[in-house]
Amino acid sequence: MNISHHLTDETIQDYASGSLSMPMETLVACHLTVCSRCRNRAALSDGVAGSLFNEIKSVSVSTSASDLLARASSMPAHSAPLTNAEGRSAPLVTGVPRPLARLLSVPLEELDWRRIAPGIKQHNLSDQHRKHGAFQLLHLEPGTVLSAHSHNDRELTYLVEGSYTDETGTFKAGDIADLDGHDHTHQPVVDSEVPCIALIATQSPVNYSGVLGKIMQPFVGI
Ligand SMILES: [Zn+2]
Repeated sequence: MNISHHLTDETIQDYASGSLSMPMETLVACHLTVCSRCRNRAALSDGVAGSLFNEIKSVSVSTSASDLLARASSMPAHSAPLTNAEGRSAPLVTGVPRPLARLLSVPLEELDWRRIAPGIKQHNLSDQHRKHGAFQLLHLEPGTVLSAHSHNDRELTYLVEGSYTDETGTFKAGDIADLDGHDHTHQPVVDSEVPCIALIATQSPVNYSGVLGKIMQPFVGI
């Protein structure tokens, strides 16, 4: 897999220190399954976090960054048939990174996608109110243009299939768009011949710059 967009240092540090939300951690873990460069950076960061941790002599940690990293590192690039997160014997959905496959009970094309606009379907992975951020899959038909928006906080997007291009570059399967609140407005355009499927996690609602985006926001939930 040819990866050209990576995690920022800040996100890797937050991952190593265990301060990311579950949705954000899932996206980071997806990227780590396919990106040796970020795995190595996370391992280095984990070493720093570990020594700081030892200095403050704290004792209660349920899951350390090294545990998470060891799990991510041992994962194959794509999932093999095993059991899913609920412990059922159904095979894990194949063709997607295991951290995402664990959250799915059926293959991507069989999910209960909700059509929210022409060319745009959505599958929520969280039922929390959108003011607390989104965790969802988007299914975008070729040629779809998303509403221009900017961010107050971090937004992570992991490309599962297909590709899109915005002001910051072209994103393909395995790439992660790691944007923070300082990034400028961007407007993704799907430029693959197959649908673009993206996994998205935000910490707070994004700021749509167009009227249409503002009208659509409650329905899109991002
Ligand atoms: Zn990377």
